[in-house]
Amino acid sequence: MKIIPLFLLLLPLTLQAALPPHSKAVPGGIAIIDLGPASGETPVLHYKKQRVMVQQDQGRWKAVVGIPLAAKPGTERLTPAKGAPLTFTVQAKDYATQHLTIKNKRKVNPNKQDMTRIRGERGRINAALTHWRETAEVKTHFILPVQGRLSSPFGLRRYFNEQPRKPHSGIDIAAPEGTPIRAPAAGRVIDSGNYFFNGKTVFLDHGQGLVTMYCHMNRIDVTPGQTVTQGEVIGAVGQTGRVTGPHLHWGVSLNDARVDPALFFEDLEGLLSRNGKL
Ligand SMILES: [Zn+2]
Repeated sequence: MKIIPLFLLLLPLTLQAALPPHSKAVPGGIAIIDLGPASGETPVLHYKKQRVMVQQDQGRWKAVVGIPLAAKPGTERLTPAKGAPLTFTVQAKDYATQHLTIKNKRKVNPNKQDMTRIRGERGRINAALTHWRETAEVKTHFILPVQGRLSSPFGLRRYFNEQPRKPHSGIDIAAPEGTPIRAPAAGRVIDSGNYFFNGKTVFLDHGQGLVTMYCHMNRIDVTPGQTVTQGEVIGAVGQTGRVTGPHLHWGVSLNDARVDPALFFEDLEGLLSRNGKL
């Protein structure tokens, strides 16, 4: 009699879940690049000098590459540690424009003292976003960090008080102050702080360059170095930093490219509109 061990039956499911539910090679999207049969050591590749995630999917190695919002449509290059560069094509994507009015003018045009603070904070934020932690498996299927209303989608080309600023690098979920924020997937707290624009912020590291950030919090419940499980409360919604009201700004970074958090859900907008009553 032949007995198939249970773990072998479950294996294909587990491996498929290694890739995010959606991928699209557009600015702010994710490119999946087939690297061949998954044998031997995990391939090491870089994109724009950042190491990229490599996952096993259906017996093959797949590079999971975050594409920055500032990327231009055309050919992009992925550099393996061994062998010739690989290329992939980035398609164009048009994001809508948003005009916001900020009452605190210093949050739009910071003074000299503010600029010194902002420059100092930038290094720490970059260190968190470029963090690499070796993990064989990365959870790329997320749960909602906050129950609320999607008040601002990803990628909007933004004007603050009619002045052009960087595009919206995450999504905003409006929810009452004090609403718990939960880890969308297991991870480790890499840093937390209180920043000029982002307010009280937590960075979670999910491994292989996948980092999520939570901004404008009123309360932080975790400390750097701490491990969190999926669904664990990390703090609460607030309105610290540059805001127009209480909300969570949620950013997802892959190889230091801010990508659309919706890619990590089967249907993020559906989830938010269903739970979106305020
Ligand atoms: Zn935001």
